Amino acid sequence: MPRRRRLRKVVAPPSFRGYKPYGNKKSSKIPVELYYEEYEAIKLADYDSLSQLEASKIMGVSRPTFARIYASARQKIAIALTETREIITVYGHAVLDKDWYQCKKCHSKFSLPPQADQFHCPLCQSENFQSINPEK
Ligand SMILES: [Zn+2]
Repeated sequence: MPRRRRLRKVVAPPSFRGYKPYGNKKSSKIPVELYYEEYEAIKLADYDSLSQLEASKIMGVSRPTFARIYASARQKIAIALTETREIITVYGHAVLDKDWYQCKKCHSKFSLPPQADQFHCPLCQSENFQSINPEK
């Protein structure tokens, strides 16, 4: 039986569903799938400039596991840039630290404070939204 992979904590999902190259009509049709935890690794290490140890603690994984996720993320982004491929974001093995929702009208992603009594999109006020947390 394959070893069950532990879920990696992600503070916030990526605020986009993907990236598309432009200026190249011959771009590959096969998108690169960037996992939520890979996006989080790039954000923590390269955007927030945290050490791999600090970032691994935030994501609830060991430092070597973080290094693997980070290396995989960079490899995928390099492939997308070099082969002009789209990037799409997928859950992978992530668990979000709050309940996150996506508005079906304006596509923004948001979480609601636990004391919220109004359930609507904070951006467009639409009440048409869905949970984006993977099944627990
Ligand atoms: Zn909205």
